[in-house]
Amino acid sequence: MNIVILGCGGFIGSHLLDRLLTTTDHKIIGWDPESSKIQKHLDNPNFTLHQRYVDDPETQQDLRDAVANGDVVINLAAICNPSEYNTNPISVIKSNLFDVYPIVELCVEYKRWLISFSTSECYGRTLSSYVGDTSYENPDLYELKEDETPLIMGPIVNQRWTYACAKQMVERLVYAHHKEDGLPFTVVRPLNFFGPRMDYIPQRDGDGVPRVLACFMGALLNGDPMKLVDGGKARRTIVSIYEAVDAICRMLDNPEKANGHAFNIGNRNNEVTMAELADLMRKTYAKITGDASYEDYPIIEVSAEEFYGEGYEDCDRRMPDISKAKELLGWEPKIALEDVLLDTMTYFHNEYAGSMKPAQVAE
Ligand code: NAD
Ligand code: UDP
Repeated sequence: MNIVILGCGGFIGSHLLDRLLTTTDHKIIGWDPESSKIQKHLDNPNFTLHQRYVDDPETQQDLRDAVANGDVVINLAAICNPSEYNTNPISVIKSNLFDVYPIVELCVEYKRWLISFSTSECYGRTLSSYVGDTSYENPDLYELKEDETPLIMGPIVNQRWTYACAKQMVERLVYAHHKEDGLPFTVVRPLNFFGPRMDYIPQRDGDGVPRVLACFMGALLNGDPMKLVDGGKARRTIVSIYEAVDAICRMLDNPEKANGHAFNIGNRNNEVTMAELADLMRKTYAKITGDASYEDYPIIEVSAEEFYGEGYEDCDRRMPDISKAKELLGWEPKIALEDVLLDTMTYFHNEYAGSMKPAQVAE
C-alpha cells in the first residue's frame, strides 16, 4: 500500500512507523515538522518525510499528489495536550478542526480512505457524573459505546472542551461525507495510549505541562513531587502503545471491516484513578532503580485551577466498550498496566536518568 501519515513524528506516529517499516513493504509518505522521534527511519527507502506542517502553503501540491497516489491517509497531526485546551484554545481549535478540513476535502475529492484520529473526549464526561452517581452503579451511565453514547460537555467558559468539540466536528464532517459522497473512513478514538517516547520530560527536552505519564515521570526524574489534580480521583484506562499499533495494523489489513466505523481503542482491564497511577508509578520506579525509598516518593494535591489555569474541567471516567474492535478486527488488548509501566518507565529512566536537569548543570 501507499500510506500517507500526517503527524508521523509524534508519539503514535513514531511507533506506527517502527511497526510498518519493519514488518511490511508499504511505502509511507509522512508530514511532520518534528523528526527527533523518527530519526532512525529517515534513510529508509520506503519512507519519505516532508518536514513541514500540513497547512504550510509550500507543501500543498506535494500533499495533493500524495493523497491522489495513496491508498489510505492516516491523520495523527494535532495539538492534543490537555494543558493547552484552556490556555491556547484558538490554536487547539485550528489544529484539530480547520487544519484538518482541507485534508478531509482532499480525501473526498480522490475518494481515499481516511483514518481519522479522534479522541475518547468525543464522549466528554459521563452521564453518571452529571446525575451525581459517583459510585458508578449503572454501566449504562458511564460505559462508552461508539454508536450510542452521547457527548456531554461543560459550558464554553470551560475551555477544556475546545479539543473535544473540534474533534467531534471532524468526526461529523467525515461521517457526513461518508453518507453523502461515499468517503471511505475509519475514526479511531484512543483511550490513553502509554509507551516510550510519549511527549517530553519537562526541564529536559520540553517546557510546559505534558500528559500525565510524562508529568509523573518528569517529577520522579527531576526530584519534584508528583502532583494529583483535584485529589487524583479521575479515572483512566491505559493501553499499551504496542497493542494500540496492533489495532491500527488490523485496520490496514482489513479495510472492508474497518471502513465506515468509529472504534474505541482502549484496555478495560487497566483502569486506575490518577492517585492509584501515581502510587503504582513510584513503586515501579523503586523496582527499576533498586531504590526502595521511591516507594514513598512525595505526592501532593493541587487544584485544577492552580495546575491548568482557568477553564479546566475533567473527564471523570473513560470505560470503553471495545466489542466492535473485538468483533470486526479480532483485537483485544492483554498487556497489564504493571507491564506497560515497567516497560515505559524503564525506557524513560534509561533515556533521561543519566542526563542532569538544567538547574543542576547551572549549580
Ligand atoms: P503527539 O503530539 O505525540 O503527535 C502529534 C504530531 O503531530 C506531533 O509530532 C506534531 O509535531 C505533529 N503536528 C501537529 N500539527 C501538525 C501539522 N499542522 N502538520 C503536521 N504535523 C503536525 O500526539 P499523539 O499522542 O501521537 O496523538 C496522535 C493523534 O491521536 C492526535 O490526533 C491525538 O488527538 C490522538 N489521540 C491520542 C491519544 C493518546 O493516548 N496518545 C489520546 C487521544 C487522542
Ligand atoms: N493529571 C494529574 N497530574 C498531572 C497531570 C495530569 O493528576 O501531573 C491528571 C489530569 O487532571 C487528568 C489525568 O491526569 O485527570 C489525565 O491527564 P492527561 O493529561 O494524561 O490527559 P487526559 O487523559 O485528560 O486526556
